[in-house]
Amino acid sequence: MALLVVEDDPRIASFLVKGLAAEGYAAAVAPDGDTALAHLRSGGYDLVLLDLGLPGTSGEDVLRQLRQRSSELPVIILTARADVTDKVRGLDLGAIDYVTKPFVFEELLARIRSALRVAGQRVPTELAVGDLRLDLLTKLAWRGERRIELSPREWSLLELFMRHPTHVLSRARIANEVFGYAFDPGSNVVDVYIGYLRRKLNRPGDEPLIRTVRGAGYRFVAP
Ligand code: CA
Repeated sequence: MALLVVEDDPRIASFLVKGLAAEGYAAAVAPDGDTALAHLRSGGYDLVLLDLGLPGTSGEDVLRQLRQRSSELPVIILTARADVTDKVRGLDLGAIDYVTKPFVFEELLARIRSALRVAGQRVPTELAVGDLRLDLLTKLAWRGERRIELSPREWSLLELFMRHPTHVLSRARIANEVFGYAFDPGSNVVDVYIGYLRRKLNRPGDEPLIRTVRGAGYRFVAP
């Protein structure tokens, strides 16, 4: 489990990191809000301990920006502000818990365990649209009872479509999200992969699940 400690007081940060390491958690420190956001953008964390009073971007703004990206990452606010209004605001912004300083480390650990348990139950392990199913843990795909063999790129492409049913996705967006590079309008790599995916998904006689929207991109239509 990897934790991000957002804390500008170096003594508290170092105390937390040492204590967490002793409990088997890997913890990184972000001493201000902008550093925290940079860490969170690169991902890989299971939980955030968030101080509210930070230089520059405040803890509230970090939380707000995190939730705007519809991230479900659990955040425990850890702050000296003990006001009920501060607590209510923090929880309304999407924190899972609130611990006031000074705190007892054992209690913080219990709250971390509890937050991780709740988050673990909330993480979806399957994505289903119509008779199409993606197992997000094993990366297997199914159409009805039929297992569909997909390459990692095809899998990512299908996941992108299934997360945005009925949306028209442009080639540029697909290239960026699935292939991770800026779109070269001269390249037909997206169309090639759409072709692979269509052949694997479609059943003879059915309407294609991935429709071409001329001049705009592609749209996934639930089976
Ligand atoms: Ca502070």
